[in-house]
Amino acid sequence: MRENLESLRNSDEELYASITNEEQRQRDGIELIPSENYAFPEVLAALGSVFTNKYSEGYPGRRYYGGQENTDYIENLARERAKSLFKCDHANVQPLSGSGMNQAVYLGLLNPGDTILAMDLSHGGHLTHGAPVSHMGKLFNFVRYVTDPSDGSFDFDQILKDAKECRPKLVLCGYTSYPRDIDYERFKAIADEVGAISMTDASHFGGLIAGEAMANPFDYGFDIVTTTTHKSLRGPRGGMILCKEDYAAKIDKSVFPGLQGGPHMNAVAALAVTLKLAALPDFKRYADKVLKNSKTLANVFIKSDTKLITGGTDNHMLVIDTLKSYGIDGRMAEETLDKVNITTNKQIIPDDPNPPLRPSGIRIGTPAATSRGMRESDMERLGAWIDQCLRAPDDKACLQKVKKEVVDFCLQFPVPGLAS
Ligand SMILES: *Cc1c(COP(=O)(O)O)cnc(C)c1O
Repeated sequence: MRENLESLRNSDEELYASITNEEQRQRDGIELIPSENYAFPEVLAALGSVFTNKYSEGYPGRRYYGGQENTDYIENLARERAKSLFKCDHANVQPLSGSGMNQAVYLGLLNPGDTILAMDLSHGGHLTHGAPVSHMGKLFNFVRYVTDPSDGSFDFDQILKDAKECRPKLVLCGYTSYPRDIDYERFKAIADEVGAISMTDASHFGGLIAGEAMANPFDYGFDIVTTTTHKSLRGPRGGMILCKEDYAAKIDKSVFPGLQGGPHMNAVAALAVTLKLAALPDFKRYADKVLKNSKTLANVFIKSDTKLITGGTDNHMLVIDTLKSYGIDGRMAEETLDKVNITTNKQIIPDDPNPPLRPSGIRIGTPAATSRGMRESDMERLGAWIDQCLRAPDDKACLQKVKKEVVDFCLQFPVPGLAS
């Protein structure tokens, strides 16, 4: 890999410089965006391999191009490993991203105009769960359910009532900004009651399901689980659709030729190795540490009377109401923490009165910091820094001091895949 980087240095100095700058940024800062992570070093190697060169439209044994003995092999490997890790009948490993993966499910199993019952976006649902600005939001009729922001609970009686009224074809749970686990049994019962397909979008916590730190929707009889492969799973950027046998043919057809052309076989190779690593005992320990770190960080904020949405966390993330806690909006909080090399992201909170680019909160997550080897005592330091900076966003001397401490602190934790 390094050799390839050297040749890049010779042919494009500017680009090479940007890569080394980004390496430095990743070394010198603490990554707390809950959807980000450091890919396994093996993933970077597979992504930069010659599988980048290959066209493989179709599926193993049924391709539209020749020369597929190795691509067939790795795609089968990835599919089998995914099935065994997530305990499901079928896996499609070709989606190029999380967004396309969800689109492939909707378009493959439903008709335009059909109703999908999904989580309200300000309560934690994702853009691809039918945001009005998204194409899917225009093609399908999304009906929303909400949570109680004080404890994160769902009013299942109300959701059932709504489901009986709107008769969804698909009941979708899963989130991008919600710090609690999901009661799959209740969601599955509601889907069954109205004859809908049950689906979980586990994009954020796919790795935590794989590491058995969080519940697996297939244990509750779910039909479909989608997950990105680059978040808690530490794989290449991409998506995966896992499903029961009944949906396998429709899902495969929907991904190709329905939505995509040639799969990115370098990403499929990288996913295969990710799934092998995620099945090892070490990854279970990792998933467990992610949650422990998240709880420890939450406790720092609880002690300092910071307002956390739902009052805490059961997963890898916290959502902080920065407006109520510190009197600053999420954008200012994000920018303040950027100044001290702590990366977070502004986030809309339940029923946020403010617009998405100036929302009332931020999201913080522990998957990346945990991959870097940070532990509970480190989370206490980290929480104290964040709290200190958000209380004094205009105190330049304070920010400067914290930044120096953060950079020094980072020296103890090599970035996976990067020489220190
Ligand atoms: C990240 C995410 C996606 C989309 O993934 P992309 O790869 O960014 O397209 C979909 N659903 C949820 C819940 C997510 O968190």
